[in-house]
Amino acid sequence: MPPELLANARAARGFMPPEEGLALHDAGCQAAERVPRAPLLEVGSYCGKSSIYLGAAAQASGTVLVAIDHHRGSEENQPGWEWHEPDLVDPAVGRMDTLPIFRRTIFDAGLEGTVVAVVGDSPTVAGFWTTPCALVFIDGGHGEEPAAEDYRLWTPHVAPGGILAIHDVFIDPADGGRAPYEQIYRPALDSGRFREESATGSLRVLRRVA
Ligand code: SAH
Ligand code: MG
Repeated sequence: MPPELLANARAARGFMPPEEGLALHDAGCQAAERVPRAPLLEVGSYCGKSSIYLGAAAQASGTVLVAIDHHRGSEENQPGWEWHEPDLVDPAVGRMDTLPIFRRTIFDAGLEGTVVAVVGDSPTVAGFWTTPCALVFIDGGHGEEPAAEDYRLWTPHVAPGGILAIHDVFIDPADGGRAPYEQIYRPALDSGRFREESATGSLRVLRRVA
């Protein structure tokens, strides 16, 4: 990854440790090589940290990253929850709004030509999505229901040979919430459609084999 972009990614606000971000970037490069002329797609961009790691991969590979988020925050980002950041609430609306920061992050990284933001609800966008993706990265809502929906609606769009990357997969419940593990990671492996390629922190990289 180009050092300047890495510096941008490290400085960006969000929830993606550098080792996991670099593993995600590598997965993006590999996926784009295996599945040419297909976009990378991310569910859950927040302030754009993971979008830089994946956007850098898309840029190097001559493809794009589609970055989907309604920018209103997940359940766990709302006031009173563990992952709430109060300055991200738009006082005029009384709701979270990470879109301005996301936009600034992507501008600062020089990735506006590569990262295409789709501002909307993940299941709504999935409802009209038809393009096969080289890589799908799922890091959206971490409740049981949103995670199950993202598994059901997005994993069919991973092209054969492409990659499914999942964030916040905790095998031990003591380490964190279990929905990404139970509702996405396990079903993906149990379906026989995906095989695990690598694990870095809570990031799992699976390849579509069938
Ligand atoms: N990948 C980010 C962190 C994502 S946090 C990083 O690198 O920092 C999870 C994000 O998922 C939040 O921004 C939230 O708004 C988004 N999200 C949750 N449920 C969603 C849904 N149903 N549709 C679209 N985005 C959703
Ligand atoms: Mg995450």
